[in-house]
Amino acid sequence: MSNLFAFTTFYGLFAACVFYPPKEFVSMGFTISELASLWLGQELDSFIQYHIKRSIVTLMVHSLLPFGYVVGLAMRGHIDAVQILFGSENPIWLTLCICTLIGPMYTLYKILTWSKNNWSKHPIAKNLSIYCAGDENRTWTDIASNINREFMSISKLQIATNTTTKVVVTDNWIMQVSPYKLDIAYQANSSLVGYKVDIYQSTTTFNIGTVYAKYRVCTRQPGGRNFTIRLNFNDMENFTGKILMPITTEPSLAFPKTMKELWMDEIKQVIADNPVYISHEELEKCAVCINATSNIKLIKRCPDIPIRDDMPLCKICNCPPRSCIDCLVKWFIAKSVTGEVDQDESFFQRKSSCPQCRSTFCLLDISYVKYEPVEPSASKS
Ligand SMILES: [Zn+2]
Ligand SMILES: [Zn+2]
Ligand SMILES: [Zn+2]
Repeated sequence: MSNLFAFTTFYGLFAACVFYPPKEFVSMGFTISELASLWLGQELDSFIQYHIKRSIVTLMVHSLLPFGYVVGLAMRGHIDAVQILFGSENPIWLTLCICTLIGPMYTLYKILTWSKNNWSKHPIAKNLSIYCAGDENRTWTDIASNINREFMSISKLQIATNTTTKVVVTDNWIMQVSPYKLDIAYQANSSLVGYKVDIYQSTTTFNIGTVYAKYRVCTRQPGGRNFTIRLNFNDMENFTGKILMPITTEPSLAFPKTMKELWMDEIKQVIADNPVYISHEELEKCAVCINATSNIKLIKRCPDIPIRDDMPLCKICNCPPRSCIDCLVKWFIAKSVTGEVDQDESFFQRKSSCPQCRSTFCLLDISYVKYEPVEPSASKS
């Protein structure tokens, strides 16, 4: 009995890993799509056809799992197949064995139905065919070719939302690939509604925890189906940058600040503590965003001791104020000399270089600029 329990536990774990492969399995290639890659071909070559095949293989493998368990039991001698079929074994075993075959049989029947007329009955093909409405000369394969072509482009965006689901954004389409399905919407007649934020850790200064945002993709395509995507907050900037359709968020929804926004706030606070630089020259518009007034000047204040061996010394910058605080802080975050920001320490030890003269500067060297016009009578600088 303990052997049976051990096998059942092992098989349960195995089945769970087939349904939701852990990251380690994915990186080692132990996924259904990797193991069936010879038949599936390359996703990049024909995206839609690949996912039609992949959904079929996935469904077939999943449906075979209960039968696999019975076969395992028979192979390990926990049940006697001959006795069950022809002998005096409790008929409940025979019933259970037959039940495990219902899933695969039904799946096979579905696959045969879908395969008719060049897979035009498959749910993915049906999803595409609604975009042929009004044009009798178009079929789902025309839409598929269009999507395949866009998927080949390097400008597409793919975000894995977990080990079995991903969101794909191409120039015109937004899609969600999941084990059995491919949800799709045409960006031109869809909109995105942010409606939920899930936060899984307490918020600290530099760690906002794991945050997920849920969006509903709402399509106005007749026959089209809305679907929900759940994104990690770290992917939000990439995602919203690529999306062309209008994005609305429900008014009650409080999106937490992104990591970058938190860094920006923190850096601005440090800069606010630095002495203010008084300029008698009128301040120009920021050379980067051409919108805000440039209000930042680099003044070397830090001591001439390199904090670390590989860190260049800060240099004097004679450039006039040419950028606003937001643009300079974004520049600082993006073009720092050290690697990734992951701790408070490394963040404050970072150095960047002046966008104009390339002189190295650190956070201590950034000053807000205040414009004070020179009085004609008492001019002093
Ligand atoms: Zn600016
Ligand atoms: Zn400079
Ligand atoms: Zn410095």
